[in-house]
Amino acid sequence: MTFDYDLFVIGGGSGGVRAARLAASEGGARVALAEEYRMGGTCVIRGCVPKKLMVFASAYAPAMVDARAYGWDVTAGGFDWSVFRAKLDAELDRLEAAYTTNLQKAGVQIFNARAVLEDAHTVTLSSGERLTAKHILIATGGRPFVPERDGSDLVITSNDIFKLDELPRSILIVGGGYIACEFACILHGLGVQVTQMYRGAQILRGFDEEARGHVAEEMRARGMNLHVGTDVLDLRAQNGGVWVKSTDGREAVYDKVMYATGRRPNTDGLGLAAAGVTLGRWGQVQVDDYSQTSVPSIFAVGDVTDRMNLTPVAIREAAAFVETVFKGTPTRPDHDLVASAVFTQPELGSVGMTEEAAREREPIDVYCTSFRAMQTLFAGRPDRVMMKLIVSQATRKVLGCHIVADHAGEMIQLAAIAIKMGATKEDFDRTVAVHPTMAEELVTMKTPVRAG
Ligand code: FAD
Repeated sequence: MTFDYDLFVIGGGSGGVRAARLAASEGGARVALAEEYRMGGTCVIRGCVPKKLMVFASAYAPAMVDARAYGWDVTAGGFDWSVFRAKLDAELDRLEAAYTTNLQKAGVQIFNARAVLEDAHTVTLSSGERLTAKHILIATGGRPFVPERDGSDLVITSNDIFKLDELPRSILIVGGGYIACEFACILHGLGVQVTQMYRGAQILRGFDEEARGHVAEEMRARGMNLHVGTDVLDLRAQNGGVWVKSTDGREAVYDKVMYATGRRPNTDGLGLAAAGVTLGRWGQVQVDDYSQTSVPSIFAVGDVTDRMNLTPVAIREAAAFVETVFKGTPTRPDHDLVASAVFTQPELGSVGMTEEAAREREPIDVYCTSFRAMQTLFAGRPDRVMMKLIVSQATRKVLGCHIVADHAGEMIQLAAIAIKMGATKEDFDRTVAVHPTMAEELVTMKTPVRAG
C-alpha cells in the first residue's frame, strides 16, 4: 500500500515539532504536520515561554526595592502592562515564525488545520483534505481543566492570562499546582492583589513536603493571601468582577478569578477510540515504553500521554520515537531523574526522590539547611533559602535534591547532572565550594538533620 506520507504528526507543539523535524531531516521521511492554532504549541504560545517572560517582568519590583537598600537612588514607577504585552506578542510571533521556518527548511509539509483520525493510517483535516500516512503521531498536548459548576463561565485560565487587555487590580487564583503558584507570584510581583485558594492541605502536591512548606511560607511572607484547605463554594458576576464565597466562609469580589485546577489531554473528538486507540481515565493516550499505542501505526508523545508533562520530556519522547521508527534503533525515553523547576518567587528546583518517597523505599539520611542569603540579607529582606539532599544509607548515593531559592531552576539543572551520574554524598563533599554563593551549601552540609 502506498501512503501520502511516511509520518503525519497531529499537533505542532514541543513534541510534534521535534518529531516532525527529526523524522524529515535525520530519518529521511516524508513528513506532514497539522496544527490547529499556532505553531510552537503550549510551551511557546501559552506556557513556559510567555510565563517565564512574565516571571522576569515581575521580579523587577523587589529588585528595585533591594536596589535602594544597596544605595541606588531609584524609585519604582508603575508597571505598564500594555508595553509588556506588545513586546510579548511580538516575541511570540517571532518564535512562531522561527518554528514554522525550521519545519519548512527540514522539508515538512505544514497544514494550518485541525486533524482528526479516520483510521489507523488516515487523517482528515478541517480544511477538507483526506491524507494517508504509514505512521501517525498524536502530539496534541493538553488544555486547562475547569470543573463544571455554576459560574464556571466567569473564570479565566492560564490560556487567557497572556491575552488580558489590562491587568486586574485583584485576582483569586484557584489551585495549588505549579501553574497556580507561579501565576500567584507573577501577578503579585506585577502589583496585583493576589488571593490563592487550594482545597488540599498544602500547595505543590508531589514535591518534597519540606520544600512545599518553605515555598508556601515565603509566598505568604511576600504578601500573597494563600489559603489552603479552602475551596470555592459559589461564584457570581458582580459589579464588573466576580463575587466568590469560599468554604471558609469568606466572601469577596475579585476583578478576575483564575482556575488552575489541572489539565486534561487533548483527545476529545480526535477519533482515537474509533480507530482502536486505548485511552486512559482522563482521555490520555495509553502508550508502551516506545510511545506506541494499541494501534501499531499510531504513536503518541508529550502531554497527551500524561506521563511527565514537561517540554523537555515531550522533546525527548519525540526524539526517541524517531530513533525507534525512522532510524532503526529502538529507544525508550528516559523518565528517570528528570529535574524540574517551579518558577515561584523564590523558585523551587527539584530532582529525584522526595524525602517521603525515599523513606518508603529504603533507609536514608537527610541533609538540610535553611539560611538567609547574603544578597537579600544585606537588602534587609527576611527571605530564607532551603537546600536539601536525600541520601541512601546503603549506597550513599544522592537520591534527591530540593532547593528553594532565587535561581533554584539554574542550580538544579547542574546538580541533576551529578545525581544522574550516580554521585554519592561523599562526591558532593569532595567538591570544593564556589564562594561566596548560595549553592556552596550543597557541598558543605556535614551532618544529617535526621535519618529515616
Ligand atoms: P503542546 O505543546 O500542548 O502542543 C500540542 C499542539 O497540538 C497545540 O499547539 C495544539 O493547538 C495542537 N492540536 C491539538 N489538537 C489538534 C488537532 N486535532 N489538530 C491539529 N492540532 C492540534 N513545561 C516545562 O518544561 N517548563 C515550564 O516552565 C512549563 N511551564 C508551563 C506553564 C504553563 C502555563 C503551561 C500551561 C504549561 C507549562 N509547561 C511547562 C508544560 C509544557 O508547556 C508542556 O509540557 C508541553 O508544551 C507539551 O508539549 P506537547 O507537544 O505535548 O503539547
